[in-house]
Amino acid sequence: MGEMEQQFVNEAFDTNWIAPVGPHVNAFEEDLCKYTGAKHAAALGSGTAAIHLALILLGVGRGDKVLCQSMTFSASANPIVYQGAIPVFVDSEEDTWNMSPEFLEKAIVSLLDKGEKPKAIIPVHLYGMPAKMEEICAIGEKYDIPIIEDAAEALGSHINGKMCGTFGKLNVLSFNGNKIITTSSGGALLSDDDSFIKKARFLATQARDDAPHYQHSHIGYNYRLSNVLAGIGRGQIQVLNKRVEQRRKVFGFYKQYFEEKNKKGYNVAFQPEPKSYFSNRWLTSILITPKQNNGITRETVRLALDAENIEARPLWKPMHQQPVFSDAPFFGDGTSERLFDNGLCLPSGSNLVEADFARIAEALDGVFV
Ligand SMILES: *Cc1c(COP(=O)(O)O)cnc(C)c1O
Repeated sequence: MGEMEQQFVNEAFDTNWIAPVGPHVNAFEEDLCKYTGAKHAAALGSGTAAIHLALILLGVGRGDKVLCQSMTFSASANPIVYQGAIPVFVDSEEDTWNMSPEFLEKAIVSLLDKGEKPKAIIPVHLYGMPAKMEEICAIGEKYDIPIIEDAAEALGSHINGKMCGTFGKLNVLSFNGNKIITTSSGGALLSDDDSFIKKARFLATQARDDAPHYQHSHIGYNYRLSNVLAGIGRGQIQVLNKRVEQRRKVFGFYKQYFEEKNKKGYNVAFQPEPKSYFSNRWLTSILITPKQNNGITRETVRLALDAENIEARPLWKPMHQQPVFSDAPFFGDGTSERLFDNGLCLPSGSNLVEADFARIAEALDGVFV
């Protein structure tokens, strides 16, 4: 937390706005628009809720197909199933580890051949690295399929200055406890189309019609962000750029560490940051191909860190390899599987200090001798 969060929370208590409505909710939405350049925002209870509402707003229903990046957290795909729709998973490419435009187009052409036009495309910015949004948006336009941009991990990232969270027709942010800024739990839906955001707020507050009594002509949800938590968000957005700087500094430490090791015959690779791309480096993640690293695997490294009580985790296991999605169609060439097999997310907290870096380096030195 920064300096202001507690003050904003106190203000919510002092004014008795302890509800999923109030001045902090409105102000936090304005803050998000100002920061990202999005025209409109709805503050919600989670990023998952934002994806669910985005699908509803695009009319996704029973039996519809929705294209989704395979390598991601399950929350990108679960809401597709909430709607009774079918996820069609798309592989990653090597340059950003995100949705491959090539396999996206192959999937669309294959579905169109069967007369099943997909209803939406969900690309993800893994660990803060922007996906190839120019290409993905161009494909969306070519086939007239709307994009739901899952920017849950990428607040503060951009391509050529255009912020993540502004590329899609509907855009999703998360403020869960693990994200670069947090409201403990929370999320937002962003769009340049006011009618979508108005409807999202309506659906998120139980879809109550404009009447003195409780009148309902739609199924509603309880998806709005609490005014107390929005107060935390207002404080957090003030420190967001600092958090991005801290995360990139963490990346800088690992980069320097492994560049030295690579000079001694190892070959540890990082998630690439293409020219004109800027990642918030939410998590620093590396690739350890055993053949190029004296047989060291990502598990060798993970277990060596674990032995020192330092947690590191494999990359997201692709959705098309998950038991729960075993029936879902998949288009790809094995890139995300290879990334999963060899990839590791390293400790990346904004609060890491020199002593932590030294401890991590010591544990790594035991593997990369
Ligand atoms: C965290 C996350 C979500 C879900 O956000 P919640 O606020 O936790 O519901 C969705 N997609 C991705 C890629 C995420 O990392």
